[in-house]
Amino acid sequence: MSSLIIVTIVFVILANTQKSKMSLPDIRNFSYEELLAYMKSIGESAFRAGQIFEWIYQKQVKHFSQMTNLSSHLQKRLQSDFVFFEPKVGEKQISSDGTTKILFDLNDNEKIETVLIPVKSRTTVCISTQAGCKFGCKFCASGIGGWKRNLSVAEIMNQVLYVKEEAQKHDNPLSHIVFMGVGEPLDNFSNLMKAIRIINHKKGINIGARRITVSTCGVIPNILQLGREGLQIELAISLHGYDNESRDVLMPVNKKYPFDDLIQACKDYQRNYRRQITFEYILIKGVTCSEKAIKALKKAFKGLICKMNLIPYNPVLEFNHKTPSRQDMFKFRDQLKSFGIHATIRSPRGQDIAAACGQLRIKKK
Ligand code: SAH
Repeated sequence: MSSLIIVTIVFVILANTQKSKMSLPDIRNFSYEELLAYMKSIGESAFRAGQIFEWIYQKQVKHFSQMTNLSSHLQKRLQSDFVFFEPKVGEKQISSDGTTKILFDLNDNEKIETVLIPVKSRTTVCISTQAGCKFGCKFCASGIGGWKRNLSVAEIMNQVLYVKEEAQKHDNPLSHIVFMGVGEPLDNFSNLMKAIRIINHKKGINIGARRITVSTCGVIPNILQLGREGLQIELAISLHGYDNESRDVLMPVNKKYPFDDLIQACKDYQRNYRRQITFEYILIKGVTCSEKAIKALKKAFKGLICKMNLIPYNPVLEFNHKTPSRQDMFKFRDQLKSFGIHATIRSPRGQDIAAACGQLRIKKK
């Protein structure tokens, strides 16, 4: 983006928010480039943007007065132009396997969930990108209450910062980010991209792109756009059907972006960007875990180099599905492996606190 456009964006954001403290923008909505442009616009040196990024994302301060290497003049200026909105932590539940689910109350009373998953040497955070979900998959709790709104960059970054602090307390530095919480990340594309760039930035959270995974239910145009962004992040596709018909039944998004087009888009993505794709495939007894599914997947995956993450169905009250037996799931995995698909079964985490895949939902009191 040209710096002129960025300066204009910054001025528009600021001009619209000078009225009262309440309407000032959260500084965590700003990309590094936008902060640079802001510094230029108020006659400050460019390196101040880096210093501020470090204060926010590495030293994790939440008051401009704590940014002690800035002049008091700049601290005051920042105070009059920006705020830090703090969402309230509504509830925190810890599973017997160490998985922690955090419910945040946002400023407009919408609620989102974030999950911290410590597994051996990794500490992963599962981030929500929307309040509610509009995609209505017929096995997932997140879509049951409908869609409310997109999360801002600051609301996404706040989840990361909160969990980063939690992880540090337990001596397990945050190492991986997965956009697999409530909502569809690719349906909130520009905020997602800004957040990823802040997470990846050396002076930001500083987590390598290969440790950041975006999961999508298959919004094809945005998958292709993601490729063009030039980031080395991991892409996960929630496939869950083995052909057009079976996917139609489980995922309404398949009507708009059908199975065959999705597989073709994945092949194009792989060829153009040389990135391996992970497919997520839910194992539902008699629905997706069958001989018919094996045959169809073998055909569909010809020519694709991919990993397949098999997710045992996690029970959701509103749906009548059943999890297959362990024996059937292992058999399914082994059959996929026998024709060259690198398939593994994901072990469910946080099931006892409804924090496992597809169990996140917003309970309104
Ligand atoms: N909208 C994005 C991000 C959500 S990721 C996407 O669809 O990819 C959440 C993952 O959990 C997805 O792969 C989703 O399909 C899976 N999931 C949803 N409900 C589930 C359930 N009941 N059991 C197991 N996995 C489920």
